Amino acid sequence: MLKPASLEWRETPWESALSAASPSVADALEKALAGTDLGLEEGLTLANVEGDDLLALVKVAGEIRRRVVGDRITYVVNRNLNFTNVCIVGCAFCGFSRGPDSPDAYFHSTDTLVAKSEEAVKLGATEVCIQGGLPKDLDGYYYVQLLRAIRARLPELHLHAYSPMEITYGVEKTRLPLREYLLMLKEAGLNSIPGTAAEILDDQVRRSLSPNKLKVRQWIEVVKTAHSVGIPSTSTMMYGHTEAPEHWVKHLLLLREIQKETRGFTEFVPLGFIHSQTKLFQSGAARAGRSVHEDLIVHALSRILLNGYIPNIQVSWVKLGFEESLACLEAGANDFGGTLMEESISKAAGANFGEYVSPGEFRALIRTIGRIPAERATSYAIRKVFEHPDAEERLPPGRIPIFAPAGSHEPMPASLGY
Ligand code: SF4
Repeated sequence: MLKPASLEWRETPWESALSAASPSVADALEKALAGTDLGLEEGLTLANVEGDDLLALVKVAGEIRRRVVGDRITYVVNRNLNFTNVCIVGCAFCGFSRGPDSPDAYFHSTDTLVAKSEEAVKLGATEVCIQGGLPKDLDGYYYVQLLRAIRARLPELHLHAYSPMEITYGVEKTRLPLREYLLMLKEAGLNSIPGTAAEILDDQVRRSLSPNKLKVRQWIEVVKTAHSVGIPSTSTMMYGHTEAPEHWVKHLLLLREIQKETRGFTEFVPLGFIHSQTKLFQSGAARAGRSVHEDLIVHALSRILLNGYIPNIQVSWVKLGFEESLACLEAGANDFGGTLMEESISKAAGANFGEYVSPGEFRALIRTIGRIPAERATSYAIRKVFEHPDAEERLPPGRIPIFAPAGSHEPMPASLGY
């Protein structure tokens, strides 16, 4: 098994890893290196690799990443605004939502959210990411009004807001046509939407996770309509729960088809399931979250199946933690996501990460694997490349340095939990 902290697999050249792979895996990877779109069968072959084949997959994904986007690892300085945790949807995988009478239910006021946005900008943020639960009595125009309030005070801030589930809820509440509703959000200041609520784009799996959630057809309709009116989105997939590798492959191929048509996805973000505080896990219906093995396969497979269509593969450090995030950045990913400043959703589901990592800490983490940090905008336009370390760079307090610093071969601490 490949361990994140092991230097051995990181230093293996991709060519020698490929030459040790089994014929079917080597064949698929050679096609991928040649820029050929891989199909379902090849995707399934790669999704089920082990041992030398896993090493070949990871190394070739890293090589394709290098050819497509180079050695920079980007990040965005942003803040998450989870405006309420009150929600009626009842997703079994969610540890975040609360009933309206729960003692820890909250609904931040618009003034508070504007103040948090202003504070974020003062700390260097270029984006706020706004998502929340779906309270029963929410006004369908709330989403519009919140955007307007923030936009009035912060004309330059990128507003990345509302999942396809929230947009569907707003449409239901207002009874406006989807396109009109999206145009109203855009006019109010919306710049892009998170492609969350995708989970696994398979209605059977979705029924087991959340029967009340929007269907695959609805998710696709929201995303395609958003793209068609000039609102780009991210794309995501939640893995490590009840799904099988074939669902990853089908999900990625579906995203690839949408992207061929719209070109509206800015990135793909695999989201490992955080299990401990969820009904899904506690009822015995799901496995105990993703494994390191799955993390590496999913990130590498994403790079390979989406190659030529979605150039940016983002790690979710709040789900993976730093060590595994860095391992996945060695396995095809190229983006560290956002500094977040606060992140309630993963934390509520039992994640150990999800508060605030400063930009300097991000850069120090990135340098541990010998790559070059760069701050980006939400659009992936580069704001600043940090070719050399600066005084603000230090590893996050209390964390074990992940990999030995670039160029060093010091042994790594053994007690990392693997
Ligand atoms: S995942 Fe979102 S929609 Fe589902 S219960 Fe949690 S907050 Fe509600």
